[in-house]
Amino acid sequence: MFSNDFKFFDCHVHFNKDTNIPDSIKAFEKFFEVGKVEKALFHGLPTHFVECAGPTQLAKGLFFKDYFKDKIFAFAGLIHHPELDKKAQSQDFVKQLERYFAAGFDGLKMLEGKPTTRKETGLTLTDDVFEPAFSFLEENQISVTLHNADPATFWDLSLMTDHEISRGWFVDSSLPTKNEMFEEIMTIMSRHPKLKLTLAHYGFTSDNIEQAKRFLDGYENTRLDMTPGWEQYCNMCKNIGEWKPFLEAHADRIKYGTDSYNNYFEDEDEQRDEMVRQWTIIRNFYETSGEHEIYGNKYFGIDFDRDLLKKMYYENAAKEYGLTPKAIDKQFVFDEIDMLYPHCTPEERADLDIIAKHFGG
Ligand SMILES: [Zn+2]
Repeated sequence: MFSNDFKFFDCHVHFNKDTNIPDSIKAFEKFFEVGKVEKALFHGLPTHFVECAGPTQLAKGLFFKDYFKDKIFAFAGLIHHPELDKKAQSQDFVKQLERYFAAGFDGLKMLEGKPTTRKETGLTLTDDVFEPAFSFLEENQISVTLHNADPATFWDLSLMTDHEISRGWFVDSSLPTKNEMFEEIMTIMSRHPKLKLTLAHYGFTSDNIEQAKRFLDGYENTRLDMTPGWEQYCNMCKNIGEWKPFLEAHADRIKYGTDSYNNYFEDEDEQRDEMVRQWTIIRNFYETSGEHEIYGNKYFGIDFDRDLLKKMYYENAAKEYGLTPKAIDKQFVFDEIDMLYPHCTPEERADLDIIAKHFGG
């Protein structure tokens, strides 16, 4: 139903810890095939900040990158050590970054702006503890993708679904407001104007286009990714007279992303549906002119310029990340496995065994 003229560089892909490596491979093969995904950027989150994440994600990210040669780029994530004092923590972050980028990671994913993560760390993004890390990332021109807030409705219980509330996503008054969280980003950029910072999910600015303008127009290396949540597309439709010209004017600054996972289904149709779920939300918006619904919420297509879409879907990411992922230092993978193995479940060990064998260990 969509045009075959496009190929995709998906800048926002996850892998959860519950699907083992053999099933993940099958799921991702389907993902590449049905979504016409030529390249993808996997976000490895070696923390417990979100359910999908866990300490084996760094090794797994490099494994997927090597297994799907030249298709996959891998981002690392920071591990927090709250038992250390702030100075030691900030030095540790830089040490981690040095180690990751010597080992072949292609950039950094930060979940540190997500309200649930903030609740755990007790840190704002402008906290001094992150400053040396941001300086390192800016000086070395390393790409960062940041989850900087959440949908505006998460600050208002009356606007949340039971499902959202049960997931613990309500943002209570112990945390900054959504606007305050956005201002933190602007503070970081004023301190690090060359930082190659991408805000995921349009930076949660879909209800405030002025913020999107300030973020992109104020700095040359800033980018947004178009990864749904669904609420962005519904919000944009409410103010499409301003959003469409904005998207056209910034088409070289917005990258494609889906938040796809390695969720595995034995049934081939179910697997297919899972792998095009997010892709369909995006393509309905950009490529059609009809009415659509996401989880009962209405939005419509804006029939966007096809040449600009090629930039957003593929070329912008190819320009930023290149077409060849960085080479992997196998020793990093072996060190990770040695460190993790004693603490892992039998299922995780089975995956680590596959990874070790793959790299010839
Ligand atoms: Zn994500």
